[in-house]
Amino acid sequence: MDQQLNLLIQLQEIDAKLRALAAQKKRLPEFLAGLERRREASKTDLDKVKEALQTAQKNKRDRDQDLEAGAQKVEKLKARSAEIKNNKEYQALLKEIEAGEQENKATEDSILGLMEKIDAAAQGIIAAEQRSRDEEAALQAEQKQLEAEFAKFDEEMGGMEQARKEIVGKVQPAVLTQYQKLLVSKAGGVAIAEARGEACSGCYMSIPPQVFVNVKKNEKIITCPHCGRILFYKEVIAPKNG
Ligand SMILES: [Zn+2]
Repeated sequence: MDQQLNLLIQLQEIDAKLRALAAQKKRLPEFLAGLERRREASKTDLDKVKEALQTAQKNKRDRDQDLEAGAQKVEKLKARSAEIKNNKEYQALLKEIEAGEQENKATEDSILGLMEKIDAAAQGIIAAEQRSRDEEAALQAEQKQLEAEFAKFDEEMGGMEQARKEIVGKVQPAVLTQYQKLLVSKAGGVAIAEARGEACSGCYMSIPPQVFVNVKKNEKIITCPHCGRILFYKEVIAPKNG
């Protein structure tokens, strides 16, 4: 095969791999953002449990004050019983005291309920903090792995760029220019197309027989008369019998 043609085929392979690697590399920020979203979700989860605790604590403080006020009210009512002159007033006062005590009892029950809530929320915080730590450890491990993976892409690209440089150094300038132009103008970066079954694999149009005869020789650079891509022919090796 013509050396220039051979070099161009290698060059195209490297360029395709470089493009694929560059496309993969671009996805790193996207992956990192995904990790960040999970970190935020874990934090929100913890914040919610903390908020539940604060709300329960606040409610308990309010009920404590209610109970104190209620207790004072009952105390005052009881103190008044000494001043009562008749039975009717006394019965009315007893009713009022009873109502006040019932109300205080309800407030106490509500405080007990809130204390249970506070305990549950405190437990919830411990569990959420543990979940958050576990998630953070998992996120950090994933991030480390991602960065290692992407560092490998860089390494691979560096190696390929070196190989590309070496090949480019051997390609004639005019041929290189022709290749570069095709590379940017043709879909999928296919500048060199295989002539397969007398058709160009770049544009799928058939190649005139006299052109195809020369393409098959792989002796020089021949372009497709339809799309302008550089054509090459891959020898089909018949499978051996037995
Ligand atoms: Zn073509």
